[in-house]
Amino acid sequence: MSVRTIKQAIKRFNKFLITSHINPEGDAIGSQAAMACLLRKLGKKFVMLDDSPVPKLLRFMRGTEDISKEMPHNFNYQAVIIMDSPDLARIGRVNDYIKKDSVIINIDHHISNVNFGKYNWVEPDYSSTGEMVYDLFKAFKVKIGMDEAVALYAAIMTDTGSFRYSNTSSKTHRITAELIDIGVKPYEMHSRIYETSSIQDTNLLGEALQTMKITDDGKIAWLWVTKEMLKKTNASLEGTEGIINFGRSIGGVEIAVLFRETGTKDRVKVSFRSKGAVDVNKLAGDFGGGGHPAASGCSVLGKIEEVEKKVLEKAKEMLS
Ligand code: 5GP
Ligand code: MN
Repeated sequence: MSVRTIKQAIKRFNKFLITSHINPEGDAIGSQAAMACLLRKLGKKFVMLDDSPVPKLLRFMRGTEDISKEMPHNFNYQAVIIMDSPDLARIGRVNDYIKKDSVIINIDHHISNVNFGKYNWVEPDYSSTGEMVYDLFKAFKVKIGMDEAVALYAAIMTDTGSFRYSNTSSKTHRITAELIDIGVKPYEMHSRIYETSSIQDTNLLGEALQTMKITDDGKIAWLWVTKEMLKKTNASLEGTEGIINFGRSIGGVEIAVLFRETGTKDRVKVSFRSKGAVDVNKLAGDFGGGGHPAASGCSVLGKIEEVEKKVLEKAKEMLS
């Protein structure tokens, strides 16, 4: 489906539930905040409801204070807008509020998206869901104001790794140039998101780097974040984001893997990053997860040593 179909779908309804995935990052939060601005400007009613709280460092975006954890009473939505989520499992507890006959509008850029909605707009070539919301503003001919410009910029900046990843296109830069013209300050955005780390989180990074291992051929690098390390450093869960990039940054490494004991009970959260030789969306898919060809993740049952063994075996297989 195209942006036009989604525009028509949004026009048809007046009360929306907006949500995104568990453990939301910049794109999930930014695209929800921007969508909220759009719906407000269109005179629609909505509630934003997420499984997990908004990370502290993303709360500067206007509208994030309206993202609730509980469904308000007496709110009967006509359609649900699910953003940046490849499947329904990814929205966690919000599933409890989705009925069998709910109209779902699925807006996402994950290649692994399973088209779970009545309306499915999936653009794997887009850098971010934020870029898709930008297209919606244009389709509705709604002027982009400062609040939504900030939210869209945050979504795009974080999902492109500050315009470094392979999903960065000339369109990405044209859009962000427009957002800068509206008033977004790139340095301020970068500083707010990437220069507010704590000493605890930085100590955790130090611990995690000590665990880094690399295969004999130098193509797979992996590292751990254990519960013990989190306890010792008193770091936040948010502080574990970005650690995986140190694996991929090594010359010759094709796949980086981060194993985190931060999943739900008895599960290890596994993240993958690739330089392009291996489609890590497929690799994560083998363990029930998904994502993008160059960045993906899954959650695997078992102890960290066992999960490491299984995952590395599969990764080596894919490389050979
Ligand atoms: P991260 O490793 O930063 O958590 O996630 C990288 C990418 O993989 C994101 O696009 C995210 O949506 C996807 N991803 C991470 N964990 C999971 C998971 O458990 N299931 C699925 N389907 N995708 C995941
Ligand atoms: Mn995204």
